[in-house]
Amino acid sequence: MNAAVLTFKYTKKTQFRFRKAFIFVFKFRIIMITEILEKVFLPTSHGEFEMVAFESGVKDFPHLALLTKNLDTAKPILTRVHSECLTGDLFGSSRCDCGEQLEESLSKISEEGGVLLYLRQEGRGIGLINKMKAYNLQDDGMNTIEANHALGFGSDDRNFDVVIQMFKLLEIDKVKLLTNNPKKIDIFQDTGIELVERVPLVIEAHSGNEAYLKVKKEQMGHLFGVIKVA
Ligand SMILES: [Zn+2]
Repeated sequence: MNAAVLTFKYTKKTQFRFRKAFIFVFKFRIIMITEILEKVFLPTSHGEFEMVAFESGVKDFPHLALLTKNLDTAKPILTRVHSECLTGDLFGSSRCDCGEQLEESLSKISEEGGVLLYLRQEGRGIGLINKMKAYNLQDDGMNTIEANHALGFGSDDRNFDVVIQMFKLLEIDKVKLLTNNPKKIDIFQDTGIELVERVPLVIEAHSGNEAYLKVKKEQMGHLFGVIKVA
């Protein structure tokens, strides 16, 4: 074995260890959140909300909650737990359904009253640059899970422990959750927050996100109906 091969092996192993350490630190900072930092009135195209910022462990990147006015917390509160996806939420990327899920959630919450929790865990917890790397691997033929694994990450490295703390700080203890993701249903077990109902979030597939939605359904257990291209 020559030196060049040895160097390559060392580099790959080191990269993998760095990624594991990054995931650990990322998860730890999610767990350590404890307090509300600021509240403000926020009128939007979807209606009027109160926006609440929570400590996330990363300066200027607080987790957020958007709440409609006069919430009656004696009743179950319609809630969406949304993880940041800059490309989908802000630029309307067709690679995923995040932007459409966010729009649909805000519109439902605004209509019925409720809360949107916005978590700063971009790219299913791997960050924006790694998500871009994963997209490049997908363009070479991998699906979303295979690409994450090739980069040394899990299928889904998000951590939802912070959600329970946010509900407690908002004094919400009964929830109707807008989601198709079974992992989000599990986070309520033994927490004192009651999940009263799961409300499906129906997004139409199109040619840009069809393959992504199929993987979510078939390999990540998301509870979609039939996925059809519109
Ligand atoms: Zn997305």
